Amino acid sequence: MKPATKFIHAGAHPDPSTGAIMTPIYQTSTYVQEAPGVNKGYEYARSQNPTRKALEEALAVIEEGKFGLAFSSGVAATDSVIKLLKPGDEVIAANDMYGGTYRLFSKIYEKFGIVFHYVDMGNVQNIENCINNKTKLIWAETPTNPLMNIVDIKAVASLSKKYNLLLCVDNTFASPALQNPLTLGADIVMHSATKYLGGHSDVIQGALMMNDQALRDELYFIQKSCGAVPGPMDCFLVLRGIKTLGIRMERHSQNGAAIAHYLQKHPAIKKVYWPGFSDHPGYEIAKSQMKDFGGMISFELKDDSIEAAMKVLSGTKLFSLAESLGGVESLINHPATMTHASIPREERIKNGLSDTLIRLSVGIEDAEDLIEDLEQAIKGA
Ligand SMILES: *Cc1c(COP(=O)(O)O)cnc(C)c1O
Repeated sequence: MKPATKFIHAGAHPDPSTGAIMTPIYQTSTYVQEAPGVNKGYEYARSQNPTRKALEEALAVIEEGKFGLAFSSGVAATDSVIKLLKPGDEVIAANDMYGGTYRLFSKIYEKFGIVFHYVDMGNVQNIENCINNKTKLIWAETPTNPLMNIVDIKAVASLSKKYNLLLCVDNTFASPALQNPLTLGADIVMHSATKYLGGHSDVIQGALMMNDQALRDELYFIQKSCGAVPGPMDCFLVLRGIKTLGIRMERHSQNGAAIAHYLQKHPAIKKVYWPGFSDHPGYEIAKSQMKDFGGMISFELKDDSIEAAMKVLSGTKLFSLAESLGGVESLINHPATMTHASIPREERIKNGLSDTLIRLSVGIEDAEDLIEDLEQAIKGA
């Protein structure tokens, strides 16, 4: 099935009791049993819910995987993957990734004795240098948030196979419409479904997709035992969002390309971070593992004062100043004080995330209007 069809039909079956074409929101906590232990496959809604089941089926299909699991947030999905580990186990993660992932690893899991190494994954050798007999998991994110670095998923997957490790890829920025890490050898794909999957800035949710039955069973056991499950209304919203994922990502990518090139040519702009430029260090890999480059762009002004960056951040009218990304509406964000404030400043600066970096989540509005908005905000600075 071609992607455009797949996104619309994934996990969709008419409701068996009424024929409703959309999976209903099964707003229930429990299910009546005919006799003790005799049930229709549903016992208690932390363990099973039909709306969640339809979504989880869709999640598997859109990521080219066998299984999907939905969680109450992206970080809850990440949390469940780390719960596969035990004290003493080691994880290799990127030195440039979503701030909340770093916070979960460093502030919650370090104290349980799990050891994290943060490396520049642009060079796969850096990962291999950290592997020892305690290493269990490689945690990769590509493109990275917010510096848009690219990790070679195939190369990291062959490394993780060689040493018998698990590879989990946070695929939030690309979305399943642009990149499918399972087909490149990853064991688990993680999504903040809050972003492109939901697509309308109206839900918090997370997802894991995988191919291995035993791994699925282990993660399902964690999902039901720890209980970070999404409610049925939220599952319905993400199911609905997925239907337009293909067409939305086409437009996000078109608008993203138009704005990246506009910024690149702008005399007031010092640097634009976008993997679609042929001189981006990850360009060739991005071109081979992604269908398009998406709508996420970061940039810095030539005027490197905080004041100038703040003027742009508060000067846009269509781009709303807010955390998050991946919705139909365009957002502007200041990683240093917003999405990435949980990373210590020295750590941030060392990894190239400056105090003046501005991040855009380009929406699906008309590109001309978006460029006009950026133009007036940059002029004002
Ligand atoms: C937002 C985000 C997360 C966390 O997801 P939540 O749904 O906010 O819990 C993880 N990774 C990336 C890349 C994100 O952008």
